[in-house]
Amino acid sequence: RANDATSPAPTDTHCPYCALQCGMTVTAKAEVAPRNFPTNAGGLCQKGWTSGALLGSPRRLTTPLIRRDGELRPASWDAALDLVAGRLCSIRAARGADAVAVFGGGGLTNEKSYLLGKFARIALGTSQIDYNGRFCMSSAAAAGLRAFGVDRGMPFPVTDLAGADAVLLAGSNPAETMPPFTQHLHKARAAGGLVVVDPRRTPTAEQASLHLAPAPGTDLALALGILHAVVADGHLNQAYVDSRTTGFAEIWRSVAAWWPERAERVTGVAAADQRKAARILATAANTYVLTGRGSEQHANGANMVSAWINLALALGLPGTPGSGYGCLTGQGNGQGGREHGQKADQLPGYRRIDDPAAREHVAGVWGVDPAALPGPGRSAYELLDALGTESGPSALLVFGSNVVVSAPSAGHVTDRLADLDLLVVADLVLSETAAMADVVFPVTQWAEEDGTMTNLEGRVLLRRRAFAPPTGVRTDLELLSGLASRLGLPPHAFPAAAETVFTELRAASKGGPADYSGISYERLRAGEAVHWPVPADDHPGTPRMFLDTFAHPDGRARFFPVEHTGPAEPQDAGFPLQATTGRVLQHYQSGAQTRLVDELNDLVPRSFVELHPDTAARYGLSEGELARVTSRRGETTATVRCLPSMRLDLVFLPFHFAGDERANLLTNPVLDPTSRMPEFKVCAVRLSKVNTA
Ligand code: SF4
Repeated sequence: RANDATSPAPTDTHCPYCALQCGMTVTAKAEVAPRNFPTNAGGLCQKGWTSGALLGSPRRLTTPLIRRDGELRPASWDAALDLVAGRLCSIRAARGADAVAVFGGGGLTNEKSYLLGKFARIALGTSQIDYNGRFCMSSAAAAGLRAFGVDRGMPFPVTDLAGADAVLLAGSNPAETMPPFTQHLHKARAAGGLVVVDPRRTPTAEQASLHLAPAPGTDLALALGILHAVVADGHLNQAYVDSRTTGFAEIWRSVAAWWPERAERVTGVAAADQRKAARILATAANTYVLTGRGSEQHANGANMVSAWINLALALGLPGTPGSGYGCLTGQGNGQGGREHGQKADQLPGYRRIDDPAAREHVAGVWGVDPAALPGPGRSAYELLDALGTESGPSALLVFGSNVVVSAPSAGHVTDRLADLDLLVVADLVLSETAAMADVVFPVTQWAEEDGTMTNLEGRVLLRRRAFAPPTGVRTDLELLSGLASRLGLPPHAFPAAAETVFTELRAASKGGPADYSGISYERLRAGEAVHWPVPADDHPGTPRMFLDTFAHPDGRARFFPVEHTGPAEPQDAGFPLQATTGRVLQHYQSGAQTRLVDELNDLVPRSFVELHPDTAARYGLSEGELARVTSRRGETTATVRCLPSMRLDLVFLPFHFAGDERANLLTNPVLDPTSRMPEFKVCAVRLSKVNTA
C-alpha cells in the first residue's frame, strides 16, 4: 500500500461503486467487510468485497502528466495547473466562454458535483457542462418529474420493498448489478409476485415468478397492454385516480386501443401473460413498480418510463403506504449527481437553470449577478458530438468519466476528442480517456477523502476518509480550487475542504426540490443518513414522499399520454440482428476501476457476445470463438457465448471493455427528445467470424 491509514480502527464507510451504497468498514490494511446499513443489511457483492484493492493499485496515478512531443510526461502540480489555466484563458479569449466545456460524472460526490457546476458557470462562464448521468437515469428523471413534479429515484426507503407481495422490475437486473438489493424482494418472490420484464433471461429473470420477455425496444407497448388489462379486467383503482391524479381520460384514449392481443403482436409477450401480470400487480396488498436502464436507455426512454408510471398510477401505487413507483439508479451518486448543478439544464437544489427565481437564489449564494449566469448548454452526447467542430467547444475538462468507453458511438466520440485543442482529465488511473489527454491530474478516490453521496433512495450519507492519499495525489476539490485561483477567483469562492463546500451546497439547495439545508456534517458524522428534503436542522428527513400530496401545484400526479414507437434503428437485410448492452456482476460501468482488480478481472477479463446457439450456427460461430459484431457506426470483437435462453434475433454485449472490445462502438446515439438519453439498449447489427489464423 502506498498510503497511510488515518486511524488504526476500522472506518465506517460506503462502497465506491453503485447506487445501493452498501455500508462497509475498511481496516488500516484496506480489508473491507460489510456492515449493517439498511440498503445492504450486511451484504456485499464481489465488487464491494474487493474494493480495497483499488486503494493499493500499482496502476494508480501519483503525479500530473503533461503531453510533450506526443508523450504524457510527469510534471508538477503547479506546472500542470499553470498550463491548463493559461490555455483555458487563451481559448476563451479567442473563441468565447462556450469554447470551454466540462464533463462530470454520476460517481462524483455531492460536493464535487456542486463545485464543478459552480466552476463551469462562474469560473469559466460556460454553459457547456453536462455529465455521464445523462447516459444513466435521465429518462426516469424526466418521466418522474412530469408525473410527480419532483424526481427522487425511489421516493421510499429500499427496506419498504421487503413488505411487498408484488414487484414489477422493468429493465433492471439487480441480481447481477446490485445483488444485496435482491434480499428486499424475498417476500414478493415467495408470494409468486416477482414480475420481471427483460428481453434476456437474466439472473434476475431466473428468480422471477413471471418473466415477460418483450422484443427489444417494445417495452412501451407491453406496458400499454398490461395497463389495458388492468382496466379491462376491473383492476383500475378508480378512487385513487379520481382523488390523486389528473389526465387518465387523455391516456385512456391511446391505451384503449392496446388490448393485450395487439400488444402481443408487437412485443411477442403472450396476452395471457400480460393479463396475469396485471392480476398479480393489482391483487397484491403491497405492490411496487420499479424501472431500470433497460426501460430508460431508448430514443423514447422518457415515454417508456411514463408508460410504467401510468400503470403504477392506474393501480394507485405512488404515494400509497406500502406501495409505490421507483427508479433503480445505477451510478454511486446517480441521484445526488443530478441535483447539484453539473447537469446542462440545472442549478443546485435540483432547480431549473431557466427559472428566474432559481437563478436569483443561486446567484445570491455565489455572490454574482444572476444575469451573468449562463443558460442551459448542450446535453452530454450533443456536447461530445460538437467537440472540435467550428461551432463547438475546443477545450474539455473531464471529471469522473471515461467517455472513450462509455459514450454511445464511441468511435465517433473518440475522433471528436482527438480534434480538441485541449483535453484535461482528472482520474485515479490512466483511463482510456485520460490516455488521450493533454494534461492528466491524479485525484483521490473513495476512502482517501470525505464526501457525501445520495443513494438510490435519496438518502444522503457520508463516505469517510480512511487513508491519506498517496503523495502527489490531490482531491478534485483541490484541483478546482487551484484552477479557480489561477483564473482570478478569490479563494473563498472555491474552497477545497469538502465540509466547507457542503455548507455552501446546503445554502444553495435551500428551498429547492432537493433541499439539503438541514443536513450537516455534524449530523452525518453522528451516524445519520437522512432522505431529502431536509429543510431544517431538526428535520428528520423525508423517507417517504407523496403520502399526502404530489409536488405539482394542484397536488396531483399526472398521467402522461405516450405512444409506442419501437427501436429507432430496425433490423434489415444488412443488419439482421439486434444488439443490447448491459453489465456483468464483476465489472462496473466503463470498467476503469474493476478491470484493475485481479479477482474481478480474472473472472471476466474480456468482452463476450451472448447469443442463441442457433443464431451462432447460422453465422458459422461456435462457443469460445471470436466474433465480429458490426453496426452502422462501427465494429467490435467479442468471444461467443451460446445461451439457449437468448432470443433468436438478439445478441448481448457487456459495455465494460476497452479498445476493439468496446460495445459502445456499436451503439446508436439517437437521442430521446425529452431526456436527451441515447438509445444504448438496442441497435441493428450483423455478425461474422474473426479469422484468427
Ligand atoms: Fe453494494 Fe453496489 Fe458496492 Fe456491490 S457495487 S457492494 S451492490 S454498493
